Amino acid sequence: MSFTTEILRFERWQRRIFRLVRNSNGLIRIKQLDYSSPSKKGQRWPIYLLEIGHKSAFRKHAPLIVSGVHGLETIGVRIHLDILSRLVDPQGRHYSPDLLAGKFGVYSIPILNPAGVANLTRSNARGIDLNRNSGVEAEKALPFFGGHKLSGALPYFRGHTKQRETRALFRFLREDFLRRRRRVHLALDIHSGYGSENFFWWPYSYTTKPVFQEQAILSVADTLRERHGMYRIEPMAKSYQTHGDLWDAALLAFQDKTLQQKPQRRSLFMPFTLEVGTWHELRKSPRRLFSREAIFNPPRESRKAYLKAHRALLWDFIHLYSKRKARREFLRSAP
Ligand SMILES: [Zn+2]
Repeated sequence: MSFTTEILRFERWQRRIFRLVRNSNGLIRIKQLDYSSPSKKGQRWPIYLLEIGHKSAFRKHAPLIVSGVHGLETIGVRIHLDILSRLVDPQGRHYSPDLLAGKFGVYSIPILNPAGVANLTRSNARGIDLNRNSGVEAEKALPFFGGHKLSGALPYFRGHTKQRETRALFRFLREDFLRRRRRVHLALDIHSGYGSENFFWWPYSYTTKPVFQEQAILSVADTLRERHGMYRIEPMAKSYQTHGDLWDAALLAFQDKTLQQKPQRRSLFMPFTLEVGTWHELRKSPRRLFSREAIFNPPRESRKAYLKAHRALLWDFIHLYSKRKARREFLRSAP
C-alpha cells in the first residue's frame, strides 16, 4: 500500500514549521519530543517542540501553545503558526520587543497528533482520540462523544492505554514546562469545530467542581473578557463533560505535587483551551456538512479572516505575564 497522500500532506505542514525556524534568525529552535504511536503498518511521525526566544528567557517565563491534538482541526495549527511567525518579525505589527529582548520565551507544540494531520483524522494512527486518552474519569460524561471504550473504529475512542503522544506531552510538562518553582505557567490548547461561538475554556472537563487555583484563573478570565468580547470565557464543563481530557490530568498531577510544597514555593498552572467556532460556516453552505474536514475548518477563502480574528487574543495571552513586575504581583496576590 502507498502512503503518498499522507506523506505529502504531513510534508506540507512540516515544511511550514521548518520555514518558520529557518526565517527566525536563530530565535526559534526545534526539538523532537518523540514519534507518534505507530500505525498497524509501523508508520510513525515526529512530534516537534519549538522554543521561541532566547535560551536564557526560558528560566524566567514561557507560556505554552499547543495545537493539532485532533488531526482534522488544522485551522488551529494555522492560527498557532501565524502568531509565532509574527512575534519574531520586527517588520510586522505583531512582533514582540520583550520576546526579542529575552524577557520571556514561548514553548510551542504545533502538531501533537501528526498521524491525525497526515491521515486527516481526529484520532491518532490507532484510532484513539488523544483528548479522551488521559485516563481521567468524568462524573457525567456525554454518552459516546464524551469518550468510550468500544472500538478504535469509532470516533471519541479513549483507548486502553496512554498513547505515545499523550505521554510525550505529560513528560514535557513534568520535565520542562512545569519544572521551575514560583512561576506563572500559562498554557493554551487550540481546537476548532464545536458550535458557532468561540469558546475560551478553563478546566475541568471531568467535573463542574471549581478548578484548582481558581482565583488566579478567574483573574486571567476577567482580564481577557474585558478586552476580547468575541469569546465565551468559562469552565469547560459548562458546555459538556468528557473523559480523558489532557489538561484535566495535567492539572490534577500538578495539584498533587503543588500541595506538597511550601506555599511560598508554589507555582500557578493555568491551562486554557481555545475552541474556534466554525459551524456558522455550515449554515452559510450546508453542503460542507458532507466533508469531515469542513466541519472543523473554515473554507479556504475565509482562512485569512480567521487568522486575523484570533491574532489579538493569542498575542494578549502570550503577553499576559511577560513583565517581571506583573508576574511578581500576580504570584504575591495568589492564595
Ligand atoms: Zn478538538
